[in-house]
Amino acid sequence: MFDLTDLEFNESELPISSDLYIPEASECMRCGQCVSGCPTFRLFQIHEETPRSRIRTISKILVENLPVSADELAHLNNCIQCRACEISCPNQMRYGELFDQAQAKLQTPLKPLAKAAFYLIENKKQCAGLLPFVKGYLKSGLQKPLRNSGILEKLNLANAEKLLSEPALKPLFENYPTNGVSREKVALFTGCIAEHFDRETLEAAIKLLNANGFNVQIPKTQSCCGAIHRHNGKSATHLIENNFAVLNALDVDAIIHVATGCGAMLKEYENEDFKRRLFDINDFLLANWSVDLQLLSSNLKVAVHEPCSQRNVLKNQQSVYALLQKIPNLTIETLADNQICCGSGGSYMLTHPENSAQLRDLKQQIINDANIDLVVSSNFGCVIHLNSDETKVVHPLVFLAEHQKKNSPKNFTL
Ligand code: SF4
Ligand code: SF4
Repeated sequence: MFDLTDLEFNESELPISSDLYIPEASECMRCGQCVSGCPTFRLFQIHEETPRSRIRTISKILVENLPVSADELAHLNNCIQCRACEISCPNQMRYGELFDQAQAKLQTPLKPLAKAAFYLIENKKQCAGLLPFVKGYLKSGLQKPLRNSGILEKLNLANAEKLLSEPALKPLFENYPTNGVSREKVALFTGCIAEHFDRETLEAAIKLLNANGFNVQIPKTQSCCGAIHRHNGKSATHLIENNFAVLNALDVDAIIHVATGCGAMLKEYENEDFKRRLFDINDFLLANWSVDLQLLSSNLKVAVHEPCSQRNVLKNQQSVYALLQKIPNLTIETLADNQICCGSGGSYMLTHPENSAQLRDLKQQIINDANIDLVVSSNFGCVIHLNSDETKVVHPLVFLAEHQKKNSPKNFTL
């Protein structure tokens, strides 16, 4: 998590769903059922790193207006916001929303680098202007000497630099019509940086949607979903309202997200017109798969990583397994310990690199023990966090699109 915000807090701006039961933080029964599934408790094995201890701190902030110590705040901010505690809580504590409200009330100032990151997330043109420099740097051969020099650590850029991947420089087109039998029009939610840093998944989504007969629109003026803003106590109202204005105005039958992290935020937007047409790509493809679209067989063994945003918020992980079954002969496994977060957590891997790396190492060990060929994960953040020389991790769409037969409807070129 970035170190929070110095912007004005207006509680009414928070995109909180009114149809959910949200108990006060003081309603925690302290039963402890949320403890064993909490990844930070798994790491530290102390009471202060449990959901119920954090709920106590949140109660001080939101209900009792009591001061919280630096230690309590540090333990609160160690939370990855995986929301595993929500699904195990018999009292239906809406932990994620309580956490966001507490962060909004705390108004901790942003550090300069976090401010810059928020600026780039919000201003896609300026972000795109930096991409040639990122690409040039990755191709220049400077990476190794710069890493060895220690300069990146001094500038506090080492963790961000490790996550860099070669960006796609050209923007996506606004329309990708199918050349098969046309069924419906859909819009693809691409958010902030995915267009350039997760092009592979978006291209696979377009390819599969086209092959299933859907005309795909990608509106240029859509914004970031606002999840990082919300989780850091910063207002996301301007982003959300822009997305309503841009996406609700489209003449499409569905608005489709491909990253479960964004999907979890979009699902909680308070706008029925928007939510009525909102679909996760896995659910949408499964429900609309054309009988004419056959996939090539594979003798690989694939494990499904279930991102927390998918398990704990969207709760649609079964769609991934069902989609993968369309590849004949593929062996599909559930990655053991899927209920424990991999440590990615959106910006958490930048703000809490040590915790994040320890959780990734635990997941890597599980992947090694599983003796599989490939891991699939429906969240961009988890994919970049878990990908390594040892393990190939891709979005399931990428794997599905690779198995599309040559003679099936195929019409998009970039
Ligand atoms: S499971 Fe729910 S009620 Fe029980 S300690 Fe955790 S947050 Fe409190
Ligand atoms: S959201 Fe995840 S990390 Fe945070 S308290 Fe709940 S289980 Fe623990």
